[in-house]
Amino acid sequence: MEDINKMKEKLAHYERENYKLIQRVLELERSEIELRKAARSMEEKSATLSAIIKSSDDAIVSKTLDGIITSWNSSAERIFGYNEQEMIGQPILKIIPEDRQDEEVEILSKLRRGIRVDHFETKRLTKNGILLDVSLTISPVRNTAGAIIGLSKIARDISEKKLEEHRKHNFVAMVSHELKTPLTAITAYIQILLQVSKKDSNPFYLTTLTRAEAQAKKMISMIQDFLSLARLEEGKIQINKEKFELHPLIKDLAEDAQFLTRKHTINLVSCDNIWIYGDPEKLGHVIMNLLNNAIKYSPEGGAITIHCEKQNDYIKISVKDEGVGISPIDQKRLFERFYRVNNDKIKTVSGFGIGLYLASEILRFHDSKIQVESQEGIGSIFSFSLNIHHS
Ligand code: ADP
Repeated sequence: MEDINKMKEKLAHYERENYKLIQRVLELERSEIELRKAARSMEEKSATLSAIIKSSDDAIVSKTLDGIITSWNSSAERIFGYNEQEMIGQPILKIIPEDRQDEEVEILSKLRRGIRVDHFETKRLTKNGILLDVSLTISPVRNTAGAIIGLSKIARDISEKKLEEHRKHNFVAMVSHELKTPLTAITAYIQILLQVSKKDSNPFYLTTLTRAEAQAKKMISMIQDFLSLARLEEGKIQINKEKFELHPLIKDLAEDAQFLTRKHTINLVSCDNIWIYGDPEKLGHVIMNLLNNAIKYSPEGGAITIHCEKQNDYIKISVKDEGVGISPIDQKRLFERFYRVNNDKIKTVSGFGIGLYLASEILRFHDSKIQVESQEGIGSIFSFSLNIHHS
């Protein structure tokens, strides 16, 4: 009887084990189905991806962290002239012009730190030795553990776009130049008439001609901004640095600005006895632009203060107004080309949104940066620092 019970227990045990085994087999079968599905989906994804890469109009290239090419699509072949066999295993430096080979080192160091490089405009060399304008977007390729194992690069041929931009800049420069010549002549005639009417002391002629002169000068200054912008974009801006004293320049500019307005008082604080090394004409342009803006964007009038503050080897020059002020969101975008604030209080103020962009570019050539502090309804302070010249 005991033996039968033991046997029954054993049988029940085997039955349980058998059931577990069947469950395990079923589980394995399910996993296999899942794995097959995943493999199929991976295959589909990779086929889609390779179809996209093949049909893309942009060159898509992958390379190792040492810059050795690992894939090269058909657009890369069309754009650069080399085929896949010629490029795989070759260094990417093959298509980088000699004077730009340092770029690759810089790009690689950024990507190693995990930073993506977006729309980087540069030049690359084709098999026929032609220099192409390209826009590059480069991203790190990571393995499943997150380590960077290579790089993928998308290159767009922007030669046509660059040519079009060049034509546009030339056109703007030509139109600006043609407009400036007659306007300068008009200003000169107005100035002659002003001299004459000063002798006649006819107050009506005097006020009218003074206003006409101010308006003509305003137009010349706007046209001058367009000319400078065109020169800057073409890389033709010339910075002529020399040692010069700050005070006479700022004093003249403050007087010119005061001449433009009766509503504002322009003050000058602590700018004497400072020598700097820079382009006096261009820096004068920056300060005049800040003064013009301080006047334009303080429609109620008020004080405008040019302040010079020594900070070790630097001089901080600031222009403060009591105008409409600028919101924190707009402050971030002020220095972009053509950016203008959309504010009801200043919607009648004319301008093209290039003055601050030009100012920041000129300051970049002086290793300086323009800063803004502002509060809406209270006023703004624009400032920048320059290295003091010790002789
Ligand atoms: P523009 O004056 O021709 O529009 P700017 O590039 O000189 O171009 O200035 C860009 C914008 O920044 C202006 O349209 C204006 O909205 C804002 N801005 C500049 N200076 C001041 C200022 N001092 N106070 C308030 N807003 C200003």
